[in-house]
Amino acid sequence: MIVAYDKQGNRLYAGVGKKYKECFCPVCGEELIHKPGKGERRPHFAHKGNTECTYGKDKDHKSDWHIRMQEYFPEEAREVRFDDKETGEKHIADIFVESCNTVLEIQHSPIDPEEFLSRTLFHLKNGRRIAWLFDESSDSENASFGKFKKDDCEWEDGIYAQKSFKWAYKRRKAITRGPDLKQAFDSYSICVYTGTEGDVFHRIVGEHCLFDYVTFSLDNIEMSENTNIEDFFRYDLYWVLEDRKRINAQSYQKISTYIPVAYRPRYAGRKRKRRFYG
Ligand SMILES: [Zn+2]
Repeated sequence: MIVAYDKQGNRLYAGVGKKYKECFCPVCGEELIHKPGKGERRPHFAHKGNTECTYGKDKDHKSDWHIRMQEYFPEEAREVRFDDKETGEKHIADIFVESCNTVLEIQHSPIDPEEFLSRTLFHLKNGRRIAWLFDESSDSENASFGKFKKDDCEWEDGIYAQKSFKWAYKRRKAITRGPDLKQAFDSYSICVYTGTEGDVFHRIVGEHCLFDYVTFSLDNIEMSENTNIEDFFRYDLYWVLEDRKRINAQSYQKISTYIPVAYRPRYAGRKRKRRFYG
């Protein structure tokens, strides 16, 4: 982990350039060891060996990829703690951008579908948007989600045919447990990193046959210090058109200037009167 707390509950950052003697876990409250970084090892906080804290086990040592993605956002947005009033648990969001009330979860290793669902619903129920960023790069030994291969699909045509994929191996049950990607398109998002185009994410915008196949957004999301959070929720209008007319590249150009991201702070209870294909 890269953020710990002092006795007064202030946030401490691992990469501060000095060594903290007193620092505590944001979840279990145990005392931590600050490792300010040596050579290749990045600065971080670690639990002592015998901890039973699950946050510690999973998150003390993060992948370089994970930390690189976090570093695209300001320090105060990294590893933000939320209290779950229903269960009394504490949740740490990898990134939380307060100004737009949005959580980004960055997932390099496989995640349990139950954990995925509970974290997703926790944030949505509390009125926050959530985007998941999954690492599916080919050099990732154990892709978190299930790698993709190009689909020579017959079920999509035109510009979307180029963006259709099927799982290269076992399709992931996790996302089928989450909210409907179409119904929740402006508050819930699944994005994948394939590692082929620099630090670029592709948003999954459509699915077919219980996620045997997926379609990526036509707009890639390029990570930078100025990453626009709204991009994670930008939805190709094609998928929300009522009669889902086939569109050609020219009309896509026209409608893509319309950005269908009208952020609504309250997710719960909202019902959308739209008909979707399929
Ligand atoms: Zn802990």
